[in-house]
Amino acid sequence: MVKVRAQLAMVMNLDKCLGCHTCSVTCKNVWTSRPGVEYAWFNNVETKPGVGYPRRWEDQERWRGGWELDGDGRLRLKGGGQLEKLARIFANPDLPAIQDYYEPWTYDYGELTSAPRSQVQPTARPRSRLTGEHVTPSWGPNWEDDLAGAPAHAPADPNLRALEEQVRLDYERVFMLYLPRICEHCLNPSCVASCPSGAMYKRAEDGIVLVDQEACRGWRMCVSGCPYKKVYFNWRRGKAEKCTLCYPRLERGDPTVCSETCVGRIRYLGLVLYDADRVEEAASTPDPRDLYDAQLSLFLDPNDPRVAERATADGVPPEWLEYARRSPVWKLAVRWRLALPLHPEYRTLPMVWYVPPLSPVQGAADGDEVFAAIERLRIPVEYLASLFTAGDPEPVLRALRRLAAMRAYMRARTVEGADGEPDPEIEGMYRLLSLAKYRDRFVIPPGRGAEALALAADGCGGGCG
Ligand code: SF4
Ligand code: SF4
Repeated sequence: MVKVRAQLAMVMNLDKCLGCHTCSVTCKNVWTSRPGVEYAWFNNVETKPGVGYPRRWEDQERWRGGWELDGDGRLRLKGGGQLEKLARIFANPDLPAIQDYYEPWTYDYGELTSAPRSQVQPTARPRSRLTGEHVTPSWGPNWEDDLAGAPAHAPADPNLRALEEQVRLDYERVFMLYLPRICEHCLNPSCVASCPSGAMYKRAEDGIVLVDQEACRGWRMCVSGCPYKKVYFNWRRGKAEKCTLCYPRLERGDPTVCSETCVGRIRYLGLVLYDADRVEEAASTPDPRDLYDAQLSLFLDPNDPRVAERATADGVPPEWLEYARRSPVWKLAVRWRLALPLHPEYRTLPMVWYVPPLSPVQGAADGDEVFAAIERLRIPVEYLASLFTAGDPEPVLRALRRLAAMRAYMRARTVEGADGEPDPEIEGMYRLLSLAKYRDRFVIPPGRGAEALALAADGCGGGCG
């Protein structure tokens, strides 16, 4: 017997990210352009290799976010249980400080228009948005854009730790990629389990993870508990805030602001069905390299009539099943295994997945040598494996080979005039990754009414500690 839950999830195709930061800016304008969260970017875009935002957020030996297994193989919060947390409630050493994010600043723009007549150009000096004093910025949320300063900063990237011998600081000539990040709306959210006030919750109807602003007491255990560092403390209001997956828009059937405005059209939104009863078992998989497969095994095929029947019995609205069948996330992550989860080893079972970029491999390959290059270029593959599969290169290689095969197939048909029976799977993959219209990229069931309330009364979507 399974317990079927629906999750709204996202896939980003990294091959198409331009690093334009439009997603970050539009998100900021909507959600964090208020006092107290000037430093917060619910959506940020990092250049990799690099230490990211906040600095070295991936170093869980330092920040102790996410879950680990105890001696008996049971899940426990890496930052300690409730008792340990209560002991540290007034002084939490695992919290990033403002310097780990950056000191937000603005400029004296008024000087440009109000300065008296002079022989020299007026300047707009940077001014801290925290103290109001003039500052000289020396770090920011995107300081490493396009590998700027990489020789100085990027060696501290935790993903390079295991690769240092091979990389020998040569990676700048080999590859770089953009990594846009939002909250992962995890199936097993350690932020929710870390909250002493019960203010954080995972919505039963669609899996979105939210903070109840009335219940939040500002203890910030969610900030340290999240391994992705995607909960932020509003220092003015004294409350935790985070990405809401733009739920007011989703409830109208509209995509998130970051997705709607994404210039590269890299983002896909859709439903996946999963077995909520097996979340803990999957997150407890002993070998971190098996966590990707364990998470995949949770997803249920919406085309299976038994799944559809069980889903309806478990309160998933019947009309959502059609959305789950058309879901681009289901196709990219489950059916074609092209998209992979970010850092599955944190054991939170993240729900924003990524199609790994083929371009660093292709860029370094000679002509038609892409297949050989995928095998040869161990630096990108092992680096991508460190990001997406806890170090197992096989799923990354499989996804890259499929992407390369799709390109070769399409080139043969459209450029070299190859004929023969078209392959509907490869053509479907190509259409979704390259040509998809708005309605194919965002397959969002509108409205959550009485069913949502009934599901909420039945408890959260799983993994809520
Ligand atoms: S990424 Fe996961 S653990 Fe972090 S805030 Fe989002 S749901 Fe919580
Ligand atoms: S808007 Fe899209 S293409 Fe531009 S940085 Fe964000 S995710 Fe990448």
